[in-house]
Amino acid sequence: MALIVQKFGGTSVGTVERIEQVAEKVKKFREAGDDIVVVVSAMSGETNRLIGLAKQIMEQPVPRELDVMVSTGEQVTIALLSMALIKRGVPAVSYTGNQVRILTDSAHTKARILSIDDANIRADLKAGRVVVVAGFQGVDEHGNITTLGRGGSDTTGVALAAALKADECQIYTDVDGVYTTDPRVVPQARRLDKITFEEMLEMASLGSKVLQIRSVEFAGKYNVPLRVLHSFQEGPGTLITLDEEESMEQPIISGIAFNRDEAKLTIRGVPDTPGVAFKILGPISAANIEVDMIVQNVSHDNTTDFTFTVHRNDYLAALEILKQTAANIGAREATGDTNIAKVSIVGVGMRSHAGVASRMFEALAKETINIQMISTSEIKVSVVIEEKYLELAVRALHTAFELDAPARQGE
Ligand code: ADP
Ligand code: ASP
Ligand code: MG
Repeated sequence: MALIVQKFGGTSVGTVERIEQVAEKVKKFREAGDDIVVVVSAMSGETNRLIGLAKQIMEQPVPRELDVMVSTGEQVTIALLSMALIKRGVPAVSYTGNQVRILTDSAHTKARILSIDDANIRADLKAGRVVVVAGFQGVDEHGNITTLGRGGSDTTGVALAAALKADECQIYTDVDGVYTTDPRVVPQARRLDKITFEEMLEMASLGSKVLQIRSVEFAGKYNVPLRVLHSFQEGPGTLITLDEEESMEQPIISGIAFNRDEAKLTIRGVPDTPGVAFKILGPISAANIEVDMIVQNVSHDNTTDFTFTVHRNDYLAALEILKQTAANIGAREATGDTNIAKVSIVGVGMRSHAGVASRMFEALAKETINIQMISTSEIKVSVVIEEKYLELAVRALHTAFELDAPARQGE
């Protein structure tokens, strides 16, 4: 008999009918003899709706109160799913994060899980009940409700699986696995049978929203067997695994991630003296703004141009600071651009292949897409391009790296 944690995302519980379907599915697993803990998200659109309400009251909602409110989305679905199970003769009980006691730090809207009290859950499982837990939420040491950041139900699922030493954590969603790239953008994208934690972590942090980054971190750290599957279609899904297979067919890159979440800032005509990067980025980090990519140009006549990217939410604040810095250090000007996107190729296969980056640049050049910034690490290459070329770039790279699904005969 196995212990399985199953997480169902927003679209999978988006209507009462879907919740009934999820209950049917859980019932089948239960009847097969497995112990089941289910984690659910809010009904699709609900978290956005709630945030919208808060923003009607104040543009920057007070984080503590925002958490009190958005956590209600998941409270609704745990109750509905428990009812749907009980109606089917399957004993079930719902828990909010607070009731389980998923203890987090106090960083409202982006809290981290510190510990999970598994006593209640274990007692319920022993008594033959399906345990239904609200995703995305916890409680801090002072009893304040916290939430784990967008997509945080994935992390609740994996953290529970780690705490309970579950045999598998199954993430059920509206696609049948992890694809080479977002299948909504590239119809030729292919489902991967397996992907390593390391690659999945890069994919998630570079923009693939299929799994929240922290859920992958957790799964890697505690070695939780993690699988992404379609909620209502049969299939093997994608296994996130530790081992890198040494197969001849190992592709050079496994996937392409992209995001539109960043903005670019440039300061020109900076007197080029030692410590210039610190003078420019020091005030930015002092304001708690994270910097992603950085490029400093070769200096002419003792001045230099310096460009970096930040999250779009931080764009205006960062530009303000940079303008101030420009005035302080005698730079010519500070400008910004939000019409950018970042495209990244990811794969452990890069370690054993040279020329991957140039192959990427060649594919983009063929489409006359200008590259504005580049950054590389051991298993990824990222470029910043103009936002309007994003989909074209992703498709071109998908083809250039031979990731397209065969035109006929399926996979
Ligand atoms: P849920 O509500 O179930 O948590 P999400 O919307 O958070 O679902 O994640 C699933 C979505 O992730 C898919 O519908 C798909 O558009 C998107 N996605 C982005 N990149 C990928 C990828 N590489 N593989 C699969 N899905 C991806
Ligand atoms: N409901 C939350 C969100 O929309 C958490 C989740 O779905 O994982 O981000
Ligand atoms: Mg999600």
